[in-house]
Amino acid sequence: MDKTTRSLSLPEAPREFGFWLDGVWEAGRDFFDRSSPGHGTPVTRIPKCTVDDLNAAVSAARRAFEDRSWAGLPGAERAGVLLRTAEILRRRRDEIAYWEVLENGKPIAQARGEIDHAIACFEVGAGAARMLHGDSFNSLGDNLFGMVLREPVGVVGLITPWNFPFLILCERVPFILASGCTMVVKPSEVTSATTLLLGEILAEAGLPKGVYNVVTGSGRTIGQALTEHPDVDMLSFTGSTGVGRSVVHAAADSNFKKLGLELGGKNPIMVFADADLEDAADAAAFGISFNTGQCCVSSSRLIVDRRVALEFEKLLAAKMNKIVVGDPLHETTQVGAITTDAQNQTILSYIEKGKGEGARVVTGGSALDLGRGSYIAPTLFTGVKREMSIARDEIFGPVLSSFQFETVEEAIQLANDTVYGLAASVWSKNIDTALTVSRRVRAGRFWVNCIMAGGPEMPLGGFKQSGWGREAGIYGVEEYTQVKSVHVEIGKRNHWIK
Ligand code: NAP
Repeated sequence: MDKTTRSLSLPEAPREFGFWLDGVWEAGRDFFDRSSPGHGTPVTRIPKCTVDDLNAAVSAARRAFEDRSWAGLPGAERAGVLLRTAEILRRRRDEIAYWEVLENGKPIAQARGEIDHAIACFEVGAGAARMLHGDSFNSLGDNLFGMVLREPVGVVGLITPWNFPFLILCERVPFILASGCTMVVKPSEVTSATTLLLGEILAEAGLPKGVYNVVTGSGRTIGQALTEHPDVDMLSFTGSTGVGRSVVHAAADSNFKKLGLELGGKNPIMVFADADLEDAADAAAFGISFNTGQCCVSSSRLIVDRRVALEFEKLLAAKMNKIVVGDPLHETTQVGAITTDAQNQTILSYIEKGKGEGARVVTGGSALDLGRGSYIAPTLFTGVKREMSIARDEIFGPVLSSFQFETVEEAIQLANDTVYGLAASVWSKNIDTALTVSRRVRAGRFWVNCIMAGGPEMPLGGFKQSGWGREAGIYGVEEYTQVKSVHVEIGKRNHWIK
């Protein structure tokens, strides 16, 4: 069969999972049945854990932290486990990608690429485990020496969303492990399979029991209980800004746990007249359509130089028209299904709002009927005004709003006109313009003449209401540490009582 016609088949029956507790599978008692968003067919059965299960997982993580079976190892041994994990992931790449597609609806080729990125995360995490170190102060005078130690925070709660279930997990887990922390993970109820599979992979790689635990269930029950748990030292939350706000309240009302927050975005892609317009149009089509626009760093606001706006929008619309939207299990599909029914409704309602508010649909603008599953055509709106909901709200779908500017200042002002500050992309061949814009636009990740590029060496995180802290790379590992200063007296004490 050639690549254009090849397609994987659906499982004959839904796969039933247990949850991962203290290094072994625990059988579920009650289940959530998940159907494939691309096909409408039941594919997995995921345990609905109870708060007792969560408490058992936190206790296991606490025991594994306090017995030093992980935090007490040399960084080189922790690195060994992370490198073995990378090797096992390489071997099980296609299988993990398959379950990711079935629960999420993303194209299979894209899912395999995400597993490759996850492997890189474990490799970078291994390097970080060996390199993590503190600091020293040799400047405190002849009778005092100062050391700054980095210690693991302790038990980490990790809550992840459904858009990149395995990738987002792996942009955190290796770095949490590198720091010496233990953890309890709560994936989104609709995409839990691959987070569970990572449990048995880490165990095979030699991770001590209790270091990685997974409890499954809904955000309102298990997620909320994890954020409120008094024995969790830090919570890393990735999801919407709205739930992020409730996480902050829960932390304040429980034990003031340390927080890492990776939240929403309304990210600009800024195109100047001197850019390579072909390249920029390809990037803009990719930036809004990749992962069906269900991507925290989707470039959902096009900010284009008025002098080339019409030409650029035409070029872009032609490219968006050519995107292959289809069955996620088909090898050549570029854009798959919308992950949940609720998200599908949200995106379609924003498209209707955009039309109602007077913006013009240049391409897309409706659902696509592929016989089964939920699909939406990549959509470009022009004539968008700043106050419209499609200009301000994170839609989390393949809907791009176009704005025009005349000066660099106006472009920067438009880019910053949002409560979010997650990512931005600038297209210009003028180094002064590119650097000025990169410095002045308030976003945690910036791409110059590229988009969504990078590797796990680079930190990720947001400004403004896009979050707190940074994940990945050495910055990510440091986020999961506490800094302790140790003062050492040298020689005889200068006595207070004479
Ligand atoms: P969400 O509704 O906020 O859910 C995120 C996670 O939180 C899920 O595991 C969810 O569980 C759980 N949750 C829901 N209510 C909770 C509560 N009251 N307490 C604790 N946990 C709770 O977000 P989503 O719809 O899954 O994801 C989309 C959002 O995530 C977008 O805003 C996107 O921009 C953001 N995001 C940000 C980044 C980043 O790096 N900045 C990356 C990806 C996504 P259930 O799903 O089981 O209910």
